[in-house]
Amino acid sequence: MKVKVQIVKDGDSIVLEDGQEVRYIGVDAPEEWTPCYWEAKKQNQIFVEGKTVLLKFYNQRKRDRGTRLLAQVYVDDILVNAEMIKRGFDTVRVEYLNEKDVNKFIALQEEAKRSKLGLWGDCPPSPEPDYIVNLKSKKFHRRTCQWVKKISGENKDSVKTREEALKEGFDPCKLCQP
Ligand SMILES: [Zn+2]
Repeated sequence: MKVKVQIVKDGDSIVLEDGQEVRYIGVDAPEEWTPCYWEAKKQNQIFVEGKTVLLKFYNQRKRDRGTRLLAQVYVDDILVNAEMIKRGFDTVRVEYLNEKDVNKFIALQEEAKRSKLGLWGDCPPSPEPDYIVNLKSKKFHRRTCQWVKKISGENKDSVKTREEALKEGFDPCKLCQP
């Protein structure tokens, strides 16, 4: 099925024009604020953002977390899932992959490791913000606060300094006392 990509969320997921979220099958992108996160996202944007892609599925369509469609994503005959691994930005996730693709993806990953690309080389650590804000509760936290894990993605944002958080109207968390 051919579809248009509206936005790239990170190195392994995209949102289509119709709002449907697609997760690349067989790969894992670096998590937010870990090394290579930005590089992987940027590369994925170059590949697919605003473009028309071809989605392919195995015999049975599977969804991840109940909502995200798991797919192979092609742009101009390039399988983006495989290309992200080849460049060292994503790692192989065998879950859901068929045998043929597992072998192919692992071979590409070994190649990326040998060539020290992306994650396997000198991907710079992504700058970690010092403070995390909760847009819903209007509180701000130190990055390491246990409450941070409980903030859902759409309510989570970050700021560089304490002053910035206060200026934007956030109150300091009572637990981590930022
Ligand atoms: Zn806190």
